[in-house]
Amino acid sequence: TFTTEDLRRLFAGIAEDIAAESDHLCELDGAIGDGDHGLAMDAGCQAAAKAVGELDAGIAPTTAFNVAAKAFLNAVGASSGPLYATAFMRAGAAAKDKQTLSDDDFLSVFAAMARGIQERGKAEPGEKTMVDAWKPAADAALDARQSGKPLPQCFGAAERAARAGCEATSNMTAAKGRASRLGDRVIGHIDPGAASAVIIIAAMAKFAQ
Ligand code: ADP
Ligand code: MG
Ligand code: MG
Repeated sequence: TFTTEDLRRLFAGIAEDIAAESDHLCELDGAIGDGDHGLAMDAGCQAAAKAVGELDAGIAPTTAFNVAAKAFLNAVGASSGPLYATAFMRAGAAAKDKQTLSDDDFLSVFAAMARGIQERGKAEPGEKTMVDAWKPAADAALDARQSGKPLPQCFGAAERAARAGCEATSNMTAAKGRASRLGDRVIGHIDPGAASAVIIIAAMAKFAQ
């Protein structure tokens, strides 16, 4: 089970892993966007981790996710801001004001994040966005759960699917976001938002072990 105390570790872990890859994410965004994706994700994740870290013990996970959403949105002036703010808001709703989250609750949180990103950005898989990592990851986690797999294996499957989805963005042209203006010039480059999604999903998988 997971409490807000555990979520502090999760958000701290995500922030640490994104910070370590911030320069690389900026390079990826420099090739097909405006080069700020690493800075945006770093600012958002640090702000979310700090805000969740400052919460009193005994605060429900729903509140922790809502606080993370607000902090992320306020810290980020790029497209990833509202997308992840929506993901964390949906995570909060999926946590249903419970004090502790079961493994199934945590999988519902994960699925809600993926759905929230997709609904907020209105991107479908194949449009060279972070949805190409999030959607297959959420589907793989739910499939694994339905075959009776324990949580760590569900997240292992999610991480593998996210990595494969991210790699696949290399061959795509973009239908959403800045890269959509560049036509075929984006082919051969992976999508920066899909790359940061892999880092977040991998951090969630590590947390779920
Ligand atoms: P900006 O383009 O405003 O600088 P970022 O650099 O933070 O924003 O994020 C760029 C990433 O956002 C892209 O690589 C893509 O994955 C994601 N993205 C852009 N538009 C959408 C959308 N409509 N739906 C989902 N993801 C999107
Ligand atoms: Mg950018
Ligand atoms: Mg920008």
